[in-house]
Amino acid sequence: MSTETLALHGGPKTITRPFKRYNPIGKEEVDAAKAVVETGVLSKFLGCWDPDFYGGPKVQEFERACEKAFGVKHVVTVNSWTSGLISAVGAIGIEPGDEVIVTPWTMSASATAILHWNAIPVFADIELETFNLDPKSVEANITPYTKAIMAVDIFGHSCDIDALMEIARRYNLKVITDTAQSPGALYKAQVTGTLAHVGGYSLNYHKHIHTGEGGILVTNDDEIFERLQLIRNHAEAVVAGKGVSNLSNMVGYNFRLGEIEAAIGLEQLNKLNGLVKDRQRTAERLTEGLKGLPGLRTPIVKPDCTHAYYVYPMILDVDSLGVPRDRIYSALDAEGVTGLVMGCANIHLLPMYQQKIAYGSSGFPWSSDICHRDVSYAKGICPVAEELHDKTFLDFGICAYHLDDDDVDLIVSAFRKVWRNMKTLVS
Ligand SMILES: *Cc1c(COP(=O)(O)O)cnc(C)c1O
Repeated sequence: MSTETLALHGGPKTITRPFKRYNPIGKEEVDAAKAVVETGVLSKFLGCWDPDFYGGPKVQEFERACEKAFGVKHVVTVNSWTSGLISAVGAIGIEPGDEVIVTPWTMSASATAILHWNAIPVFADIELETFNLDPKSVEANITPYTKAIMAVDIFGHSCDIDALMEIARRYNLKVITDTAQSPGALYKAQVTGTLAHVGGYSLNYHKHIHTGEGGILVTNDDEIFERLQLIRNHAEAVVAGKGVSNLSNMVGYNFRLGEIEAAIGLEQLNKLNGLVKDRQRTAERLTEGLKGLPGLRTPIVKPDCTHAYYVYPMILDVDSLGVPRDRIYSALDAEGVTGLVMGCANIHLLPMYQQKIAYGSSGFPWSSDICHRDVSYAKGICPVAEELHDKTFLDFGICAYHLDDDDVDLIVSAFRKVWRNMKTLVS
């Protein structure tokens, strides 16, 4: 067999060694965690109106450090970004039955956070360039019941936040950005996530920086800041002592971050910009190497934006290539390019939305009279997102690996080999 024969057809694999796992945790984090353990104070929160309502020294130090690093007035840490999203939707004053417009291209929690408050997720379509909410589709989905927009900076690139904030101003809506995948990415020289009414980041194991589990809420709004802290920590038991009069959504939880995680978070925060720069260098080398391959669209970075490359998203022009995506995927996978994924979840197509069964078994909240109208989750409501998922989208989970230049060059070689042999993939 010639070395030119695709591995899929029995030829030699281009990449024969596994990629190194991404691991941002080092000695600094080990020392920081150890120092906290030695104090014996692993969390200091109290769920009542008390100085310890705001948590222990590391939690508060981490929050102040995040405010500085992200250039935002207030930070509230939480025990996961899912908790953060739930807190955000509650804090902006959502009422049961309110509609919140959300993208189908996200992790499921962006939409369940809406449902959590018995509000109704309404899915708008995405734009091809960034895979983020398309402001035109957002506007087309606004009804008299719309109260907010949940935008996601998917894969590491900011949504069109200026356009979304402008729509929000015109229709008197609040905007939440789920920036879990793009900490450290910039939009017009400002950190993504800080430009909405409330935004934030995930600190789970898979993200750019992590504390095992955790989340960071950011806001410039004083009232939202207070409400986030209340929801994080048993609001209902705190409001009387604190003298809070607006009781709407003052149902509290234990969404508190521990001291060990906060101490690790402080070290991770110091590394964030360097880690994002590493990702950018890797992705740019990949883009440079893949340049000119016909029918392959590498990631677009819009003017005034930077990309944090949580995921390296591509689009295949399967019609001009004449080969279906799954064949191209199989050929690349056989060459040893691990970490490729076909499509992205279209959240609206999950069974919960398709069958409208969420809380209990009777269809609540959709079947209840708090729901103002029959909101559709049918296939076809988000044609751009659906076509990408079904046919043309391919991503490389760049986030999972620590790639050196040789690794990137091998990935490029594998792509180039498959492209040279594209004809052999035509069935
Ligand atoms: C990771 C992620 C979440 C959830 O974050 P957790 O910290 O795991 O709860 C939500 N939204 C998006 C877009 C994510 O990538």
